[in-house]
Amino acid sequence: MSCISVAIDGPSASGKSTIAKLLAKKLGYIYIDTGAMYRAYTLACLKNNIDCKDEEKSEALIGKITIGFNSLNHVTIDGIDVESEIRKNDVADNVSYIASYKNIRLFLVASQREFAKNNNIIMDGRDIGTYVLQDATIKFYQIADVNERARRRYKENIEKGIVCTFEDCLTNLNKRDYIDSHRSFCPLRKAEDSIEINTTNLNIEDVLNMMLLYMKERGLLNE
Ligand code: C5P
Repeated sequence: MSCISVAIDGPSASGKSTIAKLLAKKLGYIYIDTGAMYRAYTLACLKNNIDCKDEEKSEALIGKITIGFNSLNHVTIDGIDVESEIRKNDVADNVSYIASYKNIRLFLVASQREFAKNNNIIMDGRDIGTYVLQDATIKFYQIADVNERARRRYKENIEKGIVCTFEDCLTNLNKRDYIDSHRSFCPLRKAEDSIEINTTNLNIEDVLNMMLLYMKERGLLNE
């Protein structure tokens, strides 16, 4: 059988990465968190004192940095683990500007497609089913009510020691949802052949089992 690719798209904090990680572990697939790659590029801009609202200046790092993943599946910039730094507020506040720039997206999409070659893969993001892996074997679109997403993000931040309020999280998610779904190149949207899962009232296990069932129905599981 040729390689299997699972695309999971949806708005911020809809639970994509939690599910994607568990699914990848259960199936022995490689997991690629494309949001982490946009965050890493943003972090690199901030470290170089580049104004992320300036498209031309932000493009200066294209081809000059390498964004990848290490053996812990943590995102790296030129081999350096930046997984915890990319979750901080300054990166969250700027990442949607960076992700709206076409040339930066093309730079990162090239690596994303490379990762998907010759590997069974779970990739999550905003444009995986619509652009990066249009021929993905199976596509999911994960959504949840914005208040529930803010509650999840707030809990996650507090657990990681990131100082914020529930209101901060809600404001940031609303802002990112707006920018992500209104940009001209690769906006956040559901692919026509994507299976929508609303996780507002579901726990992690329910979502995981649902996805496994869809995969089983399509003959993608060995059991
Ligand atoms: O998934 P996460 O919230 O970490 O993604 C951070 C940001 O990266 C999103 O708000 C979005 O602006 C951008 N992104 C994107 N396309 C992807 C993945 C993430 O535009 N495939």
